[in-house]
Amino acid sequence: MNLIRTREECYLNLNPLQTGGRTNAAVRLTATSFIDGYSVCDYCKGVLHLIEKPPICQLTKDLADFLGMDEARLTNGAREGKFAVIHALLSPGEVIVVDSNRHYSTYVAAERAGVRVYEVRNTDYPEYEIRPEVYRETFEQVLKETGKPPKLALLTHVDGEYGNLVNAYEVGKICQEYQVPFLLNSAYTAGRMEVKGKELLADFVVTSCHKGFGIPGTIGVLATTEKWIDRLFRKSIKYPKKDIELLGCTARSEASACLITAFPYVKERVKHWEEEVKKARWLVERMESLGEIEQLGVRPKEHDLIRLKTPLFSKMAEKERKKGYFIYYELEKRGITGIKPGQTNWFKLSTYGLTWEQVEYLYSAFSEIARKA
Ligand SMILES: *Cc1c(COP(=O)(O)O)cnc(C)c1O
Repeated sequence: MNLIRTREECYLNLNPLQTGGRTNAAVRLTATSFIDGYSVCDYCKGVLHLIEKPPICQLTKDLADFLGMDEARLTNGAREGKFAVIHALLSPGEVIVVDSNRHYSTYVAAERAGVRVYEVRNTDYPEYEIRPEVYRETFEQVLKETGKPPKLALLTHVDGEYGNLVNAYEVGKICQEYQVPFLLNSAYTAGRMEVKGKELLADFVVTSCHKGFGIPGTIGVLATTEKWIDRLFRKSIKYPKKDIELLGCTARSEASACLITAFPYVKERVKHWEEEVKKARWLVERMESLGEIEQLGVRPKEHDLIRLKTPLFSKMAEKERKKGYFIYYELEKRGITGIKPGQTNWFKLSTYGLTWEQVEYLYSAFSEIARKA
């Protein structure tokens, strides 16, 4: 069987999950060259983050620096990083506070560790904003109900539902005031925009490199400050080079080699973040001008993930033979993909990495479809 995927070659892909993980030619070459099992382990030094050939040791140091933290490790993804922090800091039954726009894997990681979750509510329709001061209210509620502050607070820097950017520094200040360790989930920010964890008062930063660093997966980074190194990266007694929370070695695959190849390009691309935000804002403005389309989440956009409420298209769908699927097929005909099939009352899309010409083309495709109404 020839199992081939051509989404990035043949279409403009708008799936927010995928736009920041789109690979370039150099990364693809590294990926094929390191595709065999355990390929990065040819010159093993006893643990993944100490391997010098390929230079994973240097990469790990550079990543700590890039995230503005003191020490980092590769993980298999953001969720594995979150679980490691929760598991290292909390005992079953203790309390973690998380924002209500969090990714499902935040909740599942907490469940796996057997801890209790308190959620920081958002402002609901239409902005669904997480306001930093609500962390304080939630800490007070935890204090009242359990007699102690929470053991950890997590903030989703930008969430995957509305693409809202939260002021992490303000959350960090409240965490400091209550002496609650602060975990920043930068899955949708690191690799797109500059994220400097310590400047944001974070004790821990996790990220997802197949989401934000233009590489295949699955791989992430977990970074921390001097204060937490020994606790988080506690070593096995029997195998003194192996980190217990990481089960020794994590991303022992081509993904680590690809991250080395992609890193200079990622360092460069975060400098152009303002332009990415401009594209998202431009598209929102144009889409709303079509009428009966409304951007949900905080305005104006501070991120490329855009959620649109689209009564215009759901009304059209009623008259279409393909019903809810019509918008998906109309876009596909125009070489555009990545919007969830079958859904017309709202959808999410991302303009990340598109050229201005492509963003304009995208708008013209939507306006052509809208004119059929
Ligand atoms: C995508 C995403 C994740 C999951 O990342 P993995 O690396 O696949 O575990 C976690 N949190 C947020 C906020 C995300 O957007």
